[in-house]
Amino acid sequence: AKNDGRGRFAFFDPSLQDGLSERRRMETEMRTAVEAGHFELRYQPVIEVVTRRILGFEALMRWRHPDRGMVPPDEFIPTAEDGGMIAQLTEWALLMACQDARRWPDGLKVAVNLSPVLFRGFGLVAMVADALAASGPESNRLELEITESAMMRDPDETLAILVRLKALGVRVLMDDFGTGYSSLAYLKTFPFDKVKLDKAFVRDIDQPTSLAIIRAVTGIAESLSVRTVVEGVESEAQFRRVAAEGCDEVQGFLFSRAIPPSTIKAMLSAPERV
Ligand code: C2E
Ligand code: CA
Ligand code: CA
Ligand code: CA
Repeated sequence: AKNDGRGRFAFFDPSLQDGLSERRRMETEMRTAVEAGHFELRYQPVIEVVTRRILGFEALMRWRHPDRGMVPPDEFIPTAEDGGMIAQLTEWALLMACQDARRWPDGLKVAVNLSPVLFRGFGLVAMVADALAASGPESNRLELEITESAMMRDPDETLAILVRLKALGVRVLMDDFGTGYSSLAYLKTFPFDKVKLDKAFVRDIDQPTSLAIIRAVTGIAESLSVRTVVEGVESEAQFRRVAAEGCDEVQGFLFSRAIPPSTIKAMLSAPERV
């Protein structure tokens, strides 16, 4: 660590040693934090384009850290994936999400993000089955969001797991389409119910390539009976453009940020839903 000249200490050249011990420390903290109940779920509404009604909510994890405040998932999920803590965190998230969703009106969906590393020997199918059995709503209300890296690592194993998950009655969604080496062929090969386009496409919707991709995905999804979701819709103008492309569902700050479970009832009963 070196003084950065403004009285703060920063690691200009963190050695592997430092990086490792920092990660270990975080893992240990995470383990305690799960037990102490310091992890929370926030829920972002998913909106049906044609009716502008709430179809369900996506669960997004937060860590309420005693010293560091609310830690966003991008800061702790990678470490959790490296050290194996992700299994415990996901087990907790599945249980919480199912439990919360049981209090919502019938038919509203709840979506939980599944890290691609869980597709490798973490007993994912049993984990989902247990969550549904312990506190679940009807299984068809649970949606699982999966990024393409799971498909890339081991396509055969991932397909086998997806088939077993679907046999439980849950729906599966291909998440973050367009951020990596996403391929539309995955929509044919894997039994996805939905595909979610990453928010980068909406941000750049004025660029011809972004619009072309939204159009292509929507077209192919339609022909495969896969629903499309677009995330990151922040303005009415973006919403209109996405709607014009025939996307089925949207999420974004235009409608709502992720909110605590305690305020969901109020949001649902507001006369003007969104
Ligand atoms: P994601 O699954 O792509 O989730 C969407 C992210 O975009 C969320 O960030 C959400 O708050 C944010 N977002 C939603 N609408 C808008 C918008 O209109 N504009 C902008 N700029 N952003 C918007 P968040 O909650 O910080 O989550 C980040 C990522 O962390 C998620 O990306 C997901 O990959 C991961 N994550 C969150 N919760 C979990 C979890 O329980 N398990 C796993 N494995 N990953 C999680
Ligand atoms: Ca997601
Ligand atoms: Ca995304
Ligand atoms: Ca459709």
